[in-house]
Amino acid sequence: MEKRGRFIVLEGIDGSGTTTQAENLKAHLESQGKKVHLTRQPSTGVIGKTIREFLAKKEGQAVNWEMLALLFAADRLHHWEAEIEPHLRAGDFVISDRYVLSSLVYQGEDCPEEWVAQINQYAPQPDLTFWVNISAEAAFKRVKDRGGVEEVYDDLAKQQSLEKRYARLASSQNAIEVNGDRSISEVTQALCEAMQKHLGV
Ligand code: ADP
Repeated sequence: MEKRGRFIVLEGIDGSGTTTQAENLKAHLESQGKKVHLTRQPSTGVIGKTIREFLAKKEGQAVNWEMLALLFAADRLHHWEAEIEPHLRAGDFVISDRYVLSSLVYQGEDCPEEWVAQINQYAPQPDLTFWVNISAEAAFKRVKDRGGVEEVYDDLAKQQSLEKRYARLASSQNAIEVNGDRSISEVTQALCEAMQKHLGV
């Protein structure tokens, strides 16, 4: 029987480079002959799609933060059952851009932190969580340069607060900190070295 795959999570504020690094980690693992499934939260499933609709700033639409936190927790369980677990069972590596730590950081801004942890208690633990750490200012500049859809999380003061929350909460998810404020290839190298150390790949 084929060995169960490994579940790797990338975390960090917007612009920290998690999308870029998820693709680079995938390429790195594939170069070793591994099968890799790249995914992100909110997921592309029905609950994830609903979350994206709420997150995209819509005129006149108030966001209920508790409802959003519950949707994120529900999406996580659905994502696990429908997508992550089947890939792991097939022996694939799964890399997710965001997981539980994102909810503690983002939804914990507007909802009681302990409650957010509680509603996420059934989400299975990843094999490895990385926190790509970068200053809010540097990440904000990258996001502005990138352009794209305006989201409710999209301003500098918010990013600074989220950066602090990552620093405080990363250890609760056993996240390994990687300095994201350097070149793309240097960050990738640091991630690959940590992956080798912790997962032997
Ligand atoms: P995230 O998914 O964390 O929001 P992205 O991977 O989308 O971040 O990166 C945000 C922007 O910054 C993109 O335009 C990307 O090309 C650029 N970028 C990512 N990593 C770096 C880096 N280490 N140095 C400079 N620019 C970067």
